[in-house]
Amino acid sequence: KISLASKTTAELIVRNLHFSYEKGQEVIRGLNVTLSGEPIAIIGQNGAGKTTFVKLLKALLKPDSGEIVLNGERTSETTAAQLAGRIGLIFQNPNDQIFKHKVIDEVMFGPLNIGQSNEEALTNAKAMLKLVGLADKAEENPYDLSLAERKMVAMASILAMDTDIVIFDEPTMGQDVRGKANVKEIIHSLHEEGKLVICILHDMDFVAETFGRTIIFSNGGMLFDGPTREAFAQEEALRLARVEQPHITKIVQRLGYDRIVLKETELV
Ligand code: ADP
Repeated sequence: KISLASKTTAELIVRNLHFSYEKGQEVIRGLNVTLSGEPIAIIGQNGAGKTTFVKLLKALLKPDSGEIVLNGERTSETTAAQLAGRIGLIFQNPNDQIFKHKVIDEVMFGPLNIGQSNEEALTNAKAMLKLVGLADKAEENPYDLSLAERKMVAMASILAMDTDIVIFDEPTMGQDVRGKANVKEIIHSLHEEGKLVICILHDMDFVAETFGRTIIFSNGGMLFDGPTREAFAQEEALRLARVEQPHITKIVQRLGYDRIVLKETELV
């Protein structure tokens, strides 16, 4: 089996990034990181600055100082329209994102906006609705769907833009076991297509089974950045970031083993 990580070409370089909503209260405190390759999970307690960080990546917020470089180009110098076609951000709350009265129109909106023809947009929208398991809901009003389904509509509408980078904020929240399995499959297939996937998560079981790389965020900075199997061995960082270990780790400890060594896999 060949590792597919090398297929990913999109790269975001973050240099000495600072951001505050209010003067004197820094929410992002001098971040340095290179985001590329395998799917990346960002974990850490509420208020740590994770959502702020991904909004900065998408240039929805302007840094106080520092820079973000997307494939060699500063995003501060890229127009919002160009960026829309390159970085997709799926919000935690789909109600922040959905505004059309028909599912298919919602999913076609982004593609049309970045210049796809009506036919292309329709084809893409249908394919993405199928991918998220909502092929039969195209004609419905998003607000007649469940919150979990609405999250999938929001996901489909971003994925339909076919951006190089896809950022998810809490995609598994509110999803049942089947929904989570679907999200996992989507993340892996985006990666296989060569896209860079970045994901904020609170579900540590999902992180452990889906992501090769994990960043532990706390207080506007990073406490750890590395392989997921090492992240869950960082007891001090996890404690500071108030992150629970995955159930598997707790079970292993309860059974009396010191630790588990996860087998290396190519993809996750
Ligand atoms: P996380 O995603 O890790 O929960 P956030 O990025 O949402 O963290 O929030 C980081 C900090 O910034 C929190 O203290 C939060 O209250 C504050 N914050 C978030 N959004 C705003 C905003 N629009 N205006 C002012 N403060 C904000």
